[in-house]
Parts: sequence; C-alpha cells; structure tokens
Amino acid sequence: MTRGELTDTLSTKIRLALRGEGDNGTTVRVCGVEIGGERIIVAAGPCSVETRDQTLRAAREVKEAGASMLRGGAFKPRTSPYSFQGLGEEGLKILAEARSITGLPIVTEVLSPEDVELVGRYADMLQIGARNMQNYPLLKRVGKTRTPILLKRGFSSTIEEWLSSAEYILKEGNRSVVLCERGIRTFETSTRFTLDLSAIPILKEVTPLPVMVDPSHGTGRRELVHPMSRAAIAAGADGLLVEVHPEPEKALSDGSQSLDPESFRSLIKGLRPIAQALGRYL
Ligand code: PEP
Ligand code: MN
Repeated sequence: MTRGELTDTLSTKIRLALRGEGDNGTTVRVCGVEIGGERIIVAAGPCSVETRDQTLRAAREVKEAGASMLRGGAFKPRTSPYSFQGLGEEGLKILAEARSITGLPIVTEVLSPEDVELVGRYADMLQIGARNMQNYPLLKRVGKTRTPILLKRGFSSTIEEWLSSAEYILKEGNRSVVLCERGIRTFETSTRFTLDLSAIPILKEVTPLPVMVDPSHGTGRRELVHPMSRAAIAAGADGLLVEVHPEPEKALSDGSQSLDPESFRSLIKGLRPIAQALGRYL
C-alpha cells in the first residue's frame, strides 16, 4: 500500500491523528522535555514502584546516565490477579518524591477512568497501557485532561486501530499524544512479543504524532534491549521507554527484561553516536 492509499483509507475514520501533505511533526512537551524534536528522549525506571528506596535509587541512576524522564507503575495491569498489583497512591507519592530529587518528569500508567483525577495529580504524563488501548471510556476521560498521554499499542492491534484510539483522545481536546510501540503478538515464542519496528517509519508517514519504542516489553529479554533500542533509534523513533531496576533479580515485576544501572549507562552511551549520525542527539 502506498502512502496515498494508506492515508486515503484512514482519512474517513481518522482526522486529527493524520498527517496532512507537507505537515511537520507535532512535538509534545512534558514539563521541560520536548518529545518529537531533535533530541531523542529516554524515559527509564522500574516496571513497578515497589519501595521508596528502590524507586529513588532507580531514579538517581537513570538521571545520572542521561534519562530525561522517569517511568514507574503504581497501578499495574497484571495478567494474574495474584501478582503484585502496585502500591497505588503510595506509589504515586514515591514517584513525586523521586521527581523532586532528580527533576525528572514522571510517566505512569492509569488503568481506569475513575483513577484519572488521582493519577493526574502526580503524573506529568499519563500512560495508557497496551491492555487498555481500546478502553474507550478511559481514552475519552484522559482526552478531557491537558496532561500529555503516552498511548501504547495494544498487542493485538493494527496501526489503524491504534491511530483510531489516538483520535479518541485528540477529539476530546487533548492534543498532546505520543505513540509507543511495545510489541505485538505473533506465533514467535523466543521473545515475549514481536517488536514491530516497521511501525515506526509507517507512523512517521501517516501521523504527525511523536513515536516512542519500548524494547523492554517488546522483547521480554534484557539482552535484546540494547540491539532493539539501537534499531528503534535508527528507524526514526523519537524516544525509548526502558525498564531499569537497581536489582533486576529482585524485581516484583518484569525483572527478566529490566536492565541494571550499569547496563543502562552503557545503553545510553552506545545510542549517542547513532542519534548523531541521524542529525539528532540524546
Ligand atoms: C508497562 O509499561 O509497565 C506496561 C505494563 O506496559 P504494556 O502496557 O505495554 O504491557
Ligand atoms: Mn513492565
């Protein structure tokens, strides 16, 4: 399908999330951090906020290594109801403390429309997780806020469905939406998901919205985070969302895909020349 054909098919259902001929990309500002500009943004931190000490350690380490935002879940969408569900508001308070120490803006997930007000009081950017990409009441609710949104791709969703979800948010008046590719379900079992890097150049053609990539959930394996991060930047991503834990082997969620601080430092170092080769920086 050519660009024209794809845009034609999309244009009946998607308006605000579509790039017009000759349009520049949109940039989204999260506190002082601009996503979608020349600078490549790395949001890093633990999968879950587990304890104050764990989160503050992670925040200091990622800041020192060069991250521009802190990630961490206080409300966790776990496959099993018996798994750690997150600390809730207590976790949000810990994130706010980490922000005041490091200056890093916070991106954290909101799971339900009832929690948008609460999470919005602490978060600088609200994450809509893969499992909620088509939760329309939630999309409409966050669309009524003016907090920037990180919209993850549903793992069984097409790019068209993903952009339709972005449209729900934009239509309500919130124009600060960043898309995040985080892997889709395929028949492959050697990775947790299949990271669809081809989505990056496709999105760059059809939408003005900035695009980030999550190589942690996208692979489920920490040894794949470095190569897939490099590939994502090379393919044109505006930023990365990376899980980092001070002690990954002790993590309450997603330890096997989390980098330790040392590995995260070397990741950032290795990405700088790639960004530079593309006329960007990190
Ligand atoms: C997360 O970022 O911790 C998360 C749960 O991601 P996803 O919704 O992509 O699975
Ligand atoms: Mn996770």
